[in-house]
Amino acid sequence: MPTVIPAPQPIILPVSDSEAGFPVRRVYCVGRNYAAHAVEMGHDPDKEPPFFFQKNPDNLDPSGQFPYPPLSGDVHHEIELAVMLKSGGSDIPVDEALDHVYGYAVSLDMTRRDLQGQAKKAGRPWEAGKAFERSAPVGKIVPATRFGSPENGRIALTVNGTLRQEGDLNQLIWKVPEIIANLSGLFRLDAGDVILTGTPAGVGPVEKGDVLEASIAGLPPLNVTVV
Ligand code: MN
Repeated sequence: MPTVIPAPQPIILPVSDSEAGFPVRRVYCVGRNYAAHAVEMGHDPDKEPPFFFQKNPDNLDPSGQFPYPPLSGDVHHEIELAVMLKSGGSDIPVDEALDHVYGYAVSLDMTRRDLQGQAKKAGRPWEAGKAFERSAPVGKIVPATRFGSPENGRIALTVNGTLRQEGDLNQLIWKVPEIIANLSGLFRLDAGDVILTGTPAGVGPVEKGDVLEASIAGLPPLNVTVV
């Protein structure tokens, strides 16, 4: 059907060693999924059910630049493993969950911590703190066939060469198959869905001019400059 206004462009992310890209449908994020990060944010590290929030597909940004957003003086970095789905469904069993994964990438869940904190205190939604423009820098996607299993591997972030965040994927409270299974009980998942799986301890503020180097073993590093 012709459209009454110009149709929005699809969001397509680069795939490592491929001319073809990955089209994005939805973006889900897991909160508090590393015990040490839950503790640093003032929460109990015990295994409570996972909880999710969303960003927008066009918040994903492979450009390598992160524009410091307005209305915040406390914007934090959160390095996360991103999982890209090639198929989906509802109530996916844990032991079938990885069959739905197309690939993986390094990503950043950039957060206006002050706005998120105000929202938490007031019992309001988190979007202003989480789903702002270009709030999810993302690296090149590596197909699961080449990456292998997301069970373990070093995850780390430096800012201007100084180590700020470090952990291992084996410290995820909810593992990737469990995240997919749980999320598929709440929402019908489908090809093009992207899941950010949570951040290890060491989150902190960024400033204009900072250079962030985000790395996960087996994936191309993500280098981002705050502009
Ligand atoms: Mn996060």
